[in-house]
Amino acid sequence: IDSLRRLARTEGLLRSDELGQALRSELRNRLDVPPVIAWPEHPSVLLVVGVNGSGKTTTIAKLGQRFLRDGRSILFGAADTFRAAAVDQLQVWADRLGVDVVAGAPESDPGAVAFNAVQAGVARNVDLVIIDTAGRLHTRFNLMEELKKVHRVVGKALPGAPHAVWLVLDATTGQNALQQARAFKEAVNVTGVILAKLDSSARGGMAFAIKRELGLPILFAGLGEKPEDLQPFDPDAFIEGILSTG
Ligand code: GDP
Repeated sequence: IDSLRRLARTEGLLRSDELGQALRSELRNRLDVPPVIAWPEHPSVLLVVGVNGSGKTTTIAKLGQRFLRDGRSILFGAADTFRAAAVDQLQVWADRLGVDVVAGAPESDPGAVAFNAVQAGVARNVDLVIIDTAGRLHTRFNLMEELKKVHRVVGKALPGAPHAVWLVLDATTGQNALQQARAFKEAVNVTGVILAKLDSSARGGMAFAIKRELGLPILFAGLGEKPEDLQPFDPDAFIEGILSTG
């Protein structure tokens, strides 16, 4: 609003369509088109993090479908061993997509599962290992410490891994999403954000704060519950969604 006021003053903008246009370009300047994603290693390892309910598992299925369509071979690692339902849910998606899952016994060490998944990915020479992680733990454990451990262990299984750490945020979360992003970034060096549930009434305005304060790119938008409901983040469409009155 401050920038818009300044602009209106210096440029002498008076008409509402001029102001609307200026607002659009102000917002647009604050967001980037997502970078081209490259997977340089065989396998590349992608760690997917986020709090429970954010849409993490659904997003992993969506990413799996997208990368399969691009002709890549995929392996899932079910390292959210604290929730049996999380492993089952990932397995159901994997069966539908025809992707193998490396899982452990319930409550087994998530680091061990992540390690096995990466090793299996190396042995099978897959293009990409996508690892699901816990989003909330039993009180005996500290989520961020456990995630740091998974991150470290993955690097032991394959030096240089993980090659990407993507944080799934629920677009309906509001300001709390920024705190989540900050905490995850500190713990596991998040490299990109996926905004899930942008098809809901949520506008996802926190994307601006995440870009400005953490410098993290928004990579994809989740637009529904099906595996095909994932689009590369489109800043122009996103801004139209925010400014539309519908
Ligand atoms: P997780 O606990 O983070 O793994 O979250 P889930 O993947 O289980 O998703 C939680 C709920 O959000 C489920 O009911 C999903 O179907 C739903 N969900 C996930 N992504 C989207 C999305 O992009 N749009 C909508 N409308 N719902 C979503």
